[in-house]
Amino acid sequence: MKRRIPETLFDGHGFGMAYEVDRVLYEMRTEHQHLVLFEHKFFGKMLMLDGATQVTSKDEFIYHEMMTHVPILAHGHVREVLIVGGGDCGIAEEVLKHKSITRVTQVEIDASVVEFSREHFPEFTKPVLGNKRFELVIDDGMKYVARTQRRFDVIIVDSTDPQGPGKVLFSHKFYAACRRCMTKGGVMVTQNGVPIFQPGELTASIAKFRKLFADGSCYLAAIPTYVGGHMAMGWATDNAKLRRLPVATIAERYKKAGRFATKYWTPEVHVAAFALPRFIAEKVEKARGS
Ligand code: SAM
Repeated sequence: MKRRIPETLFDGHGFGMAYEVDRVLYEMRTEHQHLVLFEHKFFGKMLMLDGATQVTSKDEFIYHEMMTHVPILAHGHVREVLIVGGGDCGIAEEVLKHKSITRVTQVEIDASVVEFSREHFPEFTKPVLGNKRFELVIDDGMKYVARTQRRFDVIIVDSTDPQGPGKVLFSHKFYAACRRCMTKGGVMVTQNGVPIFQPGELTASIAKFRKLFADGSCYLAAIPTYVGGHMAMGWATDNAKLRRLPVATIAERYKKAGRFATKYWTPEVHVAAFALPRFIAEKVEKARGS
C-alpha cells in the first residue's frame, strides 16, 4: 500500500484530501515545523510544512509569478525587494528576472528549508543562491522588519499560514513594521489564503492594511494545490493608482524589463487579477469599513 500524506489545513471544514506518495525524499521535524518533501506522480516534487502544501513542481509558477511580477511591474521602478519567508527560493528566482532590481533580501526563519531546497529544488535555488544581487538572512521576519534600517520598494510576504512561526506575519505589528521600512509609494503583497475556506484570514489582513495604508485590497489567481478555487494575495500601498493601471502601461513596462519568460503572468492576467468576484469584493469592502 502506498503511503498517503494528508493535507490537514481544512480539516476544520470537514474537508480533507491526501496525496499518494511515490517516494519520500526528505522528512524531518525542524526547530520550527514538520517538513516533508515527496514525489507525486502528477504534481511532481511536493513540499509540505505542518500538513499544508507549500510548493509543487507542477503549479509553482502560478503563485511565484503572480506574487512577484504584479507588485514589481505595478510599482514601475523597483530597486530593493524584501522577501519574508520564501524558503524554497521560488519567489526570489522570479524577482531576479528583473535586471533593474539591484538587491533582493530574503528573510527566512528556517535554515533547513533553504538547505534542503538547495538539494531538491535546484530549479529555484541555482539562479538565486550565489547571485550577487541576492542576500539571505536567517531570522524571524517580525524581528527583522522591526529593527532594519534598510528601505524597500516592494515587500513580498511568502509565508506559511497563520499558524506556528507564520502567525506573527499576519499581525498588525508586523504590517506596521513593514510599512516603516518601505519607501514612499512602496507596495506590500502577502500570501493570504483561499477566500472560500479562509475568508477571515483575508478580511482581517485587509482591515489591518486599511489602518496603515491609503489602499488595502487583494488580487487573485487559481492554484490547483492551494485547494479552494481562488487564492488571494493581499495588496497594501499608499499609491491607490497602482492597482488600476491599464494593460498598455503594464505591457510597456514588461517590454522594458526584457519580456522575460512567464507561464501564467501576462499584462492582461495582471490587470484582470484585481477584478474581484462579487462574494470576495463584498468581503473586501466590509473589511475596508471595519
Ligand atoms: N507559498 C507557500 C504558501 O503559500 O503556503 C509558502 C512557501 S514558503 C516555503 C513559506 C516559508 O515561510 C517557510 O519556509 C517558512 O519557514 C517561512 N516562515 C514562516 N514563518 C516565518 C517567520 N516568522 N519569519 C520568516 N519566515 C517564516
